[in-house]
Amino acid sequence: MLVQTPIGGTTVKLIYTNENRFLVNNARNIVENAGISVLLKNEFAAGGAGELPSFDTWLELWVTNDEDYPAARALLDTTMHTPGGTDWICNHCQEPNDASFEFCWNCQSDA
Ligand SMILES: [Zn+2]
Repeated sequence: MLVQTPIGGTTVKLIYTNENRFLVNNARNIVENAGISVLLKNEFAAGGAGELPSFDTWLELWVTNDEDYPAARALLDTTMHTPGGTDWICNHCQEPNDASFEFCWNCQSDA
């Protein structure tokens, strides 16, 4: 599930999502500190969402400029890396994932 949402004639890309909102905010700080423009989705979706699949309320971090995507990914690959963890390859889309990711960053598969 690679979603691109048109905003004002440009596209944005999801670079990080996690059920742990603290981690997403942490990722946001890292990327913003590097001068990359990002936006959060589902920022106000937490709580009272009993009927929704929990996945829908995960905080999502998106880059607002496509061209920043590789740099943002590289930043997060470096800074969000879990020491001692093992990177894994998504069985669904073959994308490499950091060990700290419980779900594929690209397609949200957990395998
Ligand atoms: Zn995948």
